[in-house]
Amino acid sequence: MSVVRDHSRSFAEFTFVYPVISRRSRGLSLGVNLNPDKRCNFDCVYCEVDRRTPGRANRVDVPQLREELTALIHAVQTGELARTGKFRETPELAGVIRDIAFSGDGEPTMIPNFAACVEAVADVKRAEGLRDAKLVLITDAAGLDKADVRRGLTIMDANQGEVWAKLDAGTEGYFRLVNRSFVRFDRILANLFATARERPIVVQSLFLRVRGEAMPPTELAAYCERLNALVAAGGCIKEIHAYTVARPTPEPWATKLEAGELETIAATIHARTGLPVLAFA
Ligand code: SF4
Repeated sequence: MSVVRDHSRSFAEFTFVYPVISRRSRGLSLGVNLNPDKRCNFDCVYCEVDRRTPGRANRVDVPQLREELTALIHAVQTGELARTGKFRETPELAGVIRDIAFSGDGEPTMIPNFAACVEAVADVKRAEGLRDAKLVLITDAAGLDKADVRRGLTIMDANQGEVWAKLDAGTEGYFRLVNRSFVRFDRILANLFATARERPIVVQSLFLRVRGEAMPPTELAAYCERLNALVAAGGCIKEIHAYTVARPTPEPWATKLEAGELETIAATIHARTGLPVLAFA
């Protein structure tokens, strides 16, 4: 197949790439879905991925990824995307690629050929002259210590890379409640620290109501302490992205916070850590 030659294909038919207008990216983000198989080592109570339907490809085909990304970038550059579907509502945003983000239907660091995928995407970004576009990794941090992933991060560092790592808890107990992972919380913290020691990271944290209860004050204090400890030990956090549930969750008792509640949490985090905090209600 050649999606590069066949521009009539709908973007929805691509396996590995998709365009999205993202508030956190402040414009057009080209998503790179390294997990069409929907594999993840977390089972977050708020996950938006529909796992009732089976995943698609179970291994990333790098040449196909390269072709699809090139085709999508050309669709942006020729204005085709801005004339398509919902992107017609925001043509001024649909013409400028803010970032290319490894995210999608699972955890990107779980795949065995992560570094090869990063290299291919960085090659395409360079070949298409997208010097100002960031290369973002959206991750739950569980695999940041793998050798292949660390190689991928080094490639990202040389290509306007940015790691957006999840931290939704301050204690092992709350981590188990919200993220429901078999990975240990101290491994997540160690990975965040090791990554933040090498380059600035963005911490992205989802705050929600669990069975009617927002994050307890003691948990929020513990969360802030984790961030302070990371910085005190030499880690660099560029900013915190605080957000809440946006779509229906698999668990009906996992619900969104009101905008004011999220703003209050963001203000508390800023007051206790001194870090920049952006709230996306
Ligand atoms: S880490 Fe992301 S993909 Fe995995 S379960 Fe949580 S929200 Fe879903």
